[in-house]
Amino acid sequence: MAQAKKALVKSKKQRTPRTVGGSVKKSTPHSGVRTYQNYIGGKWVDSNSGEIFENINPADTRDVVGRFPLSTRQDINDAVNAAQEAFNRWRRTPAPRRAEILFRLGEILIRQKSALAADMTREMGKVLKETGGDVQEAIDCTYYTAGEGRRLHGFTTPAEMPDKFAMCVRQPVGLCGLITPWNFPMAIPSWKLIPALVCGNTVVIKPAEDTPLSTYNLVKACEEAGIPPGVVNLVTGYGETVGAAMTTHPALRLISFTGSTETGRLVASACADRNAICSLEMGGKNVIMVMEDADVDLAVEGAVWGAFGTSGQRCTASSRIVVHKKVYKQFSKKLVERAQTLRVGNGADPRTDMGPVINSEAIEKIRGYIDIGRHEDGATLAHGGRRLTKGEYANGFFIEPTVFTDVTPDMRIAQEEIFGPVTAVIPANSLDEAIEIGNGVRYGLSASIYTQDVNRAFEAMNEMYTGIFYVNASTIGAEVHLPFGGTKATGNGHREAGTQVLDVFSEWKSIYVDYSGKLQRAQIDDVKI
Ligand code: ADP
Repeated sequence: MAQAKKALVKSKKQRTPRTVGGSVKKSTPHSGVRTYQNYIGGKWVDSNSGEIFENINPADTRDVVGRFPLSTRQDINDAVNAAQEAFNRWRRTPAPRRAEILFRLGEILIRQKSALAADMTREMGKVLKETGGDVQEAIDCTYYTAGEGRRLHGFTTPAEMPDKFAMCVRQPVGLCGLITPWNFPMAIPSWKLIPALVCGNTVVIKPAEDTPLSTYNLVKACEEAGIPPGVVNLVTGYGETVGAAMTTHPALRLISFTGSTETGRLVASACADRNAICSLEMGGKNVIMVMEDADVDLAVEGAVWGAFGTSGQRCTASSRIVVHKKVYKQFSKKLVERAQTLRVGNGADPRTDMGPVINSEAIEKIRGYIDIGRHEDGATLAHGGRRLTKGEYANGFFIEPTVFTDVTPDMRIAQEEIFGPVTAVIPANSLDEAIEIGNGVRYGLSASIYTQDVNRAFEAMNEMYTGIFYVNASTIGAEVHLPFGGTKATGNGHREAGTQVLDVFSEWKSIYVDYSGKLQRAQIDDVKI
């Protein structure tokens, strides 16, 4: 592995909030810290900048996971050129052949699963069970979507005229830019990469600056599986520079983005300026509704898992729990008792229930919301609320699982996405009121209801305007063969996963074959009146 040309080191995890600007320091040599490279046109290369940034373990910031290229617009240009060069060959490779390579990729990921999970816990913080699940999701996505290589169904349909055949087929979109977040460092890249490839596109992928190693591992596995040079290109770096360079690059026909709603808006407007296709997956303020006939213990388990799994850093996290007044006290008490039992710690320790949050920026944002909840909003802080800083927590980004009760629907902690281990318990008088509260936010990703009454379950299922809905389960836990995505400010109408994702990464081509041997006009041109 070649060393970066110039020794300038930045680390996003240690940056002060982005609005204040990044911190830059001269590098000091770290023995044993590996320097990684970009992957462009089938070659591992340094960034044109010669600069690198550090990937830091959020459970222990003294642990530098690796150094990654701090890339530039020029690196994006190089990667796009490589994707362009590879495109015609890849799109002409029959889809079943493309899929065979992807099945090999799945096998490699299975073989490496525990090492990949360990790398992910080290760079992202979530517990090993969850990072194992993240890798498993990439495996499932690979197998499921590679199966589409033998389908990629189009359709035939009757034509208006005799001796004329009409059909519709999928064609690749072209060159795709994939911009991914840090909370599912392998699952989300795979949700974009695998369908893009099976449809015959070539890609440039830019992982989040906090978790580049897992995407590096995925791309390395693509190389080992035999995906041809230039089909998959990896460029690491900051969103504001390389991410923005992707969204404005005229040759990237499609940008698929998952991240914050604020950044998604920037991505969308850059794409709109040049008429690029843009698929956005953004925030959530998901709700669990607990009815008075619910199995309260089951609902508490679901709430704990949904609110504190991944330290609440999931777009589907259960950040609001609307509880019928008849069971409100009982539920709140049990939820607090259960939250108290959670062991916070390094995700690599099998005793840990909840790992750190991702970086100092996240700590500040989450603590800011906890203050808002206590003072500005005036809710009851029933459990948690503190940053943990002593002993094993001294060098990491740890926050207690936090429960607010007596929350009203209009409070900021009940409206805004916190993206941390904080949940808001809101009382309600009826199912209708719970649904109104549930729908009363700008997002529309996931919702759930706990009830024993099938009529209420169906009513809620029908009335909640979200992309995902669960009955007697938490708001998290999507399966790869069902479409994933949300309504309102969560997305822009697209879905990932399922077969629906093929509609993002392919475009329809309608084909008419006239074998009549004469000029036949369609009704649009020739109707008798
Ligand atoms: P978060 O705030 O959780 O880090 P972001 O939405 O900022 O979420 O990041 C999601 C992804 O978007 C990351 O890969 C990040 O580098 C990238 N990104 C950030 N800013 C921009 C931008 N202006 N243009 C394109 N991509 C960006």
